[in-house]
Amino acid sequence: MQYDVIVIGSGPGGYVAAIRAAQLGMKTAIVEKYSVLGGTCLNVGCIPSKALLDSSEHFYNAAHSFKEHGIEISDLKVNLEQMITRKRGVVEKMNNGISFLMKKNKITVYNGFGSFVNKNTVKVAKTDGSSEEITSKNIIIATGSKPTVLPSMPVDKKRVITSTEALNLTEIPKHLVVIGAGVIGAELGSVYARLGAKVSFVEFADSMIPTMDKTMGKELQKSIKKLGAEYYFSHKVTSVVNNGDDVTVTAKNAKDEDVTITGDYVLVCIGRRPYTDGLNLEAAGLAADQRGRVEVDEHTLQTKVEGIYAIGDVIRGAMLAHKAEEEGVFVAETIAGQKPHVNYLLIPGVVYTWPEVASVGYTEEELKTSGRAYKSGSFPFKALGRATASMDTDGLVKVLADKATDEILGVHIIGARAADMIAEAVVAMEYRASAEDVARMSHAHPTYTEAMKEACLAATENRAIHA
Ligand code: FAD
Ligand code: NAD
Repeated sequence: MQYDVIVIGSGPGGYVAAIRAAQLGMKTAIVEKYSVLGGTCLNVGCIPSKALLDSSEHFYNAAHSFKEHGIEISDLKVNLEQMITRKRGVVEKMNNGISFLMKKNKITVYNGFGSFVNKNTVKVAKTDGSSEEITSKNIIIATGSKPTVLPSMPVDKKRVITSTEALNLTEIPKHLVVIGAGVIGAELGSVYARLGAKVSFVEFADSMIPTMDKTMGKELQKSIKKLGAEYYFSHKVTSVVNNGDDVTVTAKNAKDEDVTITGDYVLVCIGRRPYTDGLNLEAAGLAADQRGRVEVDEHTLQTKVEGIYAIGDVIRGAMLAHKAEEEGVFVAETIAGQKPHVNYLLIPGVVYTWPEVASVGYTEEELKTSGRAYKSGSFPFKALGRATASMDTDGLVKVLADKATDEILGVHIIGARAADMIAEAVVAMEYRASAEDVARMSHAHPTYTEAMKEACLAATENRAIHA
C-alpha cells in the first residue's frame, strides 16, 4: 500500500501527527506494535499515573483532612485492587477514544512491529506471524522511550520495578525505596506514601526534581516529608541486591561512605532512554546517536534522510507528552508545505504531586548562570483566601522578570492547581507580557490564580497587596 505519510508509533507524538496529516488531506497510516493505541503516555504513563494520584489523594484527604472539614468516616480502608481496576477503566476508555479518532480521520491503523526496509518502505510484522510492506515519501518516527535500566540495578519487575509495574502492584509496599527523586519518583512515591507505605528517596542530586527551579524542589520536599517520606540526597546508588522478599540498595554518600537501605520494593526511576530497538534505522540510512536518539534538523525535525522525520521522546528535548504533540503537528504541517513553529522555551513542565509543581521559562539558576539581570517576586498560597478555605495552603508562586524591561522570563508555581494555573503564564510569556501587565489584569476572587497576580505585583515593584 502507498501512503502520503506513515507514522511509526501511536503515542501522543505519533497519533497527533497522524490526525493533523489526515486533516491536511494526506492519506495516512499509523503503525503500532501493541494492540492498543496511545503509547507510553496513555497506557503506562501520564494517564494511569494521574488516575492513581487522584485516587490516593482522595484516600489521604479522607484519612487526614475530612474530619476538620466536618466529615466523619469510620472504617476507612484502601481497596488497591479496585483502585487499579478503575485506573484500567480510565485507560481503556481513552484507548477507545483514540481508535475512534483514527476512524473519524480515515487513518489506517496497522497493529504490528514496524521496521525500515529502505527509506520509503516500512515492514509491519504482525503477531500472527504474517507481515506486510507499506510505502510512503514521508515517514515519521515516533517510537518514544523506555525506562533506563542499569546492570547495577537489575529490574525483575516483581520486587525491583519500573514505573510500568508500579502502576499495577497487587499490594501496598511496606517500605518502598525509590531510586531517583525526579518526576516519576515524586509522583509514584507520593501515591504509595499516601496509601501508607514508608517511602525512602535515594537521589544522586542534592534535592528533589533537581532540574526544576531549586525553590520548587525545596518546597516539594517539605510537603512530601509530611507523608512520612525520608530522603537520601547526594547519594549515588551503586548496587541493588534482590533477596527475594526484600531488596537492599547500596549508595555512596557525599563522604564516599556506603549507605544501605532495605525495602520490600524498589522503584527504579532514573530517567528514560529513546527507543529505536528493532527499527532497522540502518536500512533507511540512519543511525541512533550515542544517547540512542534519532538526530533531527532543528528547523524541520527532518533526519539527514529526506522525507524521514522524528518527534517526541525519541529525539532531543524534554520527554513530555505535550512536547511530542506539538512536534507531531509541526511535522505534519511541514510536510504539507506550511511554516509552523514550536516555542521550546514555553513548553511547561508539571509534576502532579499534591501540591502540584508547574514551571515555564527560565529557572532562577539558569538566569544566574547566564548573567541576565532579573528581579523576582513571590507570593505564598497561605495568604490566599481560597487556599485557606480549602486547607491547601502549602506553596507559592515565583515570577522572574527582566530587571530593565519587566518582561516575564520564568514562572514557577508549587501549590494546589498549579498544573492548570501555569497556562496563564504560558500565554503571558508567549505574548511577551511584563509582570506589570499581568498584575494589572483582573483575577477572579477568591481563586488560586490571585497568587499569580500578587507574585507579578511583587516582581513589578514589590507591591503585593496581601503580603
Ligand atoms: P510514546 O508515548 O512512548 O509512544 C511510542 C509508541 O511507539 C509506543 O506505543 C510504542 O509501542 C510504539 N513503538 C515503538 N517502536 C515501534 C515499532 N518499531 N513499531 C511499532 N510501534 C512502535 N508526560 C507528560 O507530559 N505529562 C505527564 O503527566 C507524564 N507522566 C508520565 C508518567 C510516567 C509514569 C511515564 C513513564 C511518563 C510520563 N510522561 C508524562 C512522559 C510521556 O509519557 C512521554 O513524554 C510521551 O509518551 C512521549 O510520547 P511519544 O509519542 O514520543 O512516545
Ligand atoms: P528524571 O530525569 O525526572 O529523574 C531521574 C532522577 O534520578 C534524577 O533526579 C537523577 O539525578 C536521579 N539519578 C540518576 N541516577 C541515579 C543514581 N545512580 N542514584 C541515585 N539517583 C540517580 O527521570 P524519571 O523520573 O525517570 O522520568 C523520566 C521522564 O519521564 C522524564 O524525562 C519526565 O519528563 C517524564 N515524565 C514526566 C512526567 C510529568 O510530566 N508529570 C511524569 C513522569 C515522567
